[in-house]
Amino acid sequence: MTAAFDPVRTCWICDNTTLVPVHELIFELSAYGTQDAELAAYTGSRLTLCRCARCGFAQPAALPALPRYFDRMYDQRWSDDWIRNEFEAEYKDDIFAEILGSLARRLGPARRRLLDVGAHAGRFVSLAQRAGWTAEGLELNPKTAAYAARRTGASIRQLNVHDAAVGDEAYDAITLTDVLEHIPDPVRVLMRAASLLAPDGWVAVKVPCGPSQLLKETWRGRILRGYRPTVADNLVHVSHFSPASLRRALERAGFVDVAVGPGAPELPAAPGLRGTLSRASRRAVHYAARLLPGALDTPLTLNLQAYGRRPSAARIQAARTA
Ligand SMILES: [Zn+2]
Repeated sequence: MTAAFDPVRTCWICDNTTLVPVHELIFELSAYGTQDAELAAYTGSRLTLCRCARCGFAQPAALPALPRYFDRMYDQRWSDDWIRNEFEAEYKDDIFAEILGSLARRLGPARRRLLDVGAHAGRFVSLAQRAGWTAEGLELNPKTAAYAARRTGASIRQLNVHDAAVGDEAYDAITLTDVLEHIPDPVRVLMRAASLLAPDGWVAVKVPCGPSQLLKETWRGRILRGYRPTVADNLVHVSHFSPASLRRALERAGFVDVAVGPGAPELPAAPGLRGTLSRASRRAVHYAARLLPGALDTPLTLNLQAYGRRPSAARIQAARTA
C-alpha cells in the first residue's frame, strides 16, 4: 500500500509562494492498523513544515492524498469515562471565561445566540448556558456530539461547519476554540463562519501560537535527551498561526475590527504542590504576555485569542456591488 501526498505550494493565508522549511514531522498511525489500513499505511512517512516568508503562517509542504484523511484520523473511539471527564474537567475554564466575557462586552445584553464549532464534550456550551447564552454546537465525533447534546440539552449537530445550513439561524457569536489549527485552508472555514453570523455578530478564535509552540518544543528537545517536537506529527496540528497570519486570515474572510492578543492558558489539574506551581506559572506567563508591550510577538505568547466582527448588512452589500 502506498502513502501518496499532494503538494501544497502556496500559503493558505496570503497566497505567497516563498515557503521556508522549519521542521520535519513524522506519521505514526499504526494504532489504526485494524480500524483503517489505508490510514495506517502513512506510518513512517515524513513531511516538511514550511513557514510563509511574508505572513509567518506555517503549513505542511504536502497533504495526504487519502480521501477524508482528517475525518478518518479523528474517528477516535473515545471511552465513555474519557468523554465524561472532558465535560467535567476545568482545565480550559479560564479560556472559556475570557471568550464569554469578551463576546458579551462586544455584543451588548440583547444578543446572546451562540454557535460553538467543535463543541467536543459540551463543557463550553454548558458554561455559556449558565452565563445566559442560547448556545448550540457542531461536533464531528458522533460519541462526543451525542454526549454533549445529552448533558446540555442543547442542539449539538454532528456536522462539518461547511454543511451547516445558512438560514434564519444567524448567530450573534461563533466560537472556534482549539479548532482552526486542526483544519487545512482555514480561511475557507472562517468565511463559512462569517456566513453563519448575523450582521455585526462576532467570531472568537483561539489557537496555539505556532512559532512559540515550536520553539518551546524544540528547547524541550534540547533539554530532554530523546525528546523530539511532536506538535505537527500526523498533521494533528496542520495550520500553525503567527499573530500576523491570524489577523490576516480573519481579514481575508471579511471580518473587521479584528483584535489579536495572547490567549488564556490551559491549567492542568495535576494534584499537590506541583500542580499548583504549574498553574501559577502558566497564569504568570499569560499575564506577562498581556501586560508587556510587544510581548505578542515573543515566546511569552503561547496561545492566540482573536475576535472579528462581521460587517453590517449594508457594508456587505456595498462590498458585493463594488
Ligand atoms: Zn502567508
